[in-house]
Amino acid sequence: LVDADGTIRPTIFAEMSALAAETGAINLGQGFPDEDGPTVVLETARRAIADGVNQYPPGRGTSDLLHAIAEHQQRFYDIALDPHRDILVTAGATEALAATLLALIDGPDDEIVVFEPFYDAYAAAAALSGARLVTVPSRWPDFQPDLDELSHAVTDRTRVILVNDPHNPTGAVFSAEVRTEIVRLAEHHDAIIVTDEVYEHLVFDGRHVPIASEPGAWSRTVTISSGGKTFATTGWKIGWLSGPAPLVDAILAVKQYLTYVNGAPFQPAIATGLRMPDDFFASIAGALRDKSAILGAGLRAAGFDVSTPSGSYFTVADAAPLGATDADEFCRALPRRTGVVGIPLTAFSTPEGRSEVATLVRFAACKRTDVIEQAVGRLALLR
Ligand code: PMP
Ligand code: GLN
Repeated sequence: LVDADGTIRPTIFAEMSALAAETGAINLGQGFPDEDGPTVVLETARRAIADGVNQYPPGRGTSDLLHAIAEHQQRFYDIALDPHRDILVTAGATEALAATLLALIDGPDDEIVVFEPFYDAYAAAAALSGARLVTVPSRWPDFQPDLDELSHAVTDRTRVILVNDPHNPTGAVFSAEVRTEIVRLAEHHDAIIVTDEVYEHLVFDGRHVPIASEPGAWSRTVTISSGGKTFATTGWKIGWLSGPAPLVDAILAVKQYLTYVNGAPFQPAIATGLRMPDDFFASIAGALRDKSAILGAGLRAAGFDVSTPSGSYFTVADAAPLGATDADEFCRALPRRTGVVGIPLTAFSTPEGRSEVATLVRFAACKRTDVIEQAVGRLALLR
């Protein structure tokens, strides 16, 4: 995150999106959709602005959105929440994550166990909280963590086990065994599970299983999600978290001094989205599965080895068969070489973990089908 001279670097997404703009390359780097989500969601926001829903909403979130989140958790996961005690609306999953870690971490003796590679904001939020990060590798090609390595990493010093399922950047969905072991270890060492499930509706085969629904988990789990991925509204930054009321209260105490409240006209719009029929949710998972299949086949045809994702926006490809030895270098050259941007997995690793992902590249499938087809057509030049 920080250079030797103390400079904080721009995020890899800012850097690679700038490179895409500069070179005119197709941006399969930063994960954001290039098409709008459901019209009814967009219309609700437009109407809310026109109707004067433009001042500070309540601190926990609007009552309507809190109820919509509770109904959603009940409908999809059979989790019963008290809308006004167990839920907090946040400025995206990013704020939910930062506020949660700031609330739960006491100081440098606390440890956060995280699966590596991990979404880049995790290391930054952990650093802000002052905790020590302890990593458990999730390895190519299936990216399921090893249970022995996991059980060695979790100790009585562990304050938080930080989960991301479905996973960015790997596209993995944790197995039932991994989920069960996380809950067992959290109970044994009295740790809290913080789980980022922003890709909950982008599971390709079967349904997402929140770790909070595992036996014994709920009372020690904070579940984070966001409207950004599900409704293709990443720029709205409406996220939320849910968990036992005392944990949510502690996180609210931090959130009120970070952003206070957020996104008044977007809250009714996301509530409308969360109440859409089951068909809508099935259709977005199906569409992304099809796009990921086209992307994966194209990457294989271009000469990459490919890890087949089980969910999320992302597909990981190994550039080693194309002669690459350093994904960072490979990705910096790729836009000018082929007109396509991808993100090196080294951007999601600690310096110690880089060797595990040295030649791996993340490509985003959350783009129009014709854009993905054009991108893989360009990548075919690599052969
Ligand atoms: N967690 C993960 C795993 C993500 O991929 C992202 C980014 N898109 C976020 C959190 C941030 O979500 P938001 O935009 O809602 O803050
Ligand atoms: N979550 C998206 C990604 O991983 C974008 C994140 C960002 O731009 N900070 O690509």
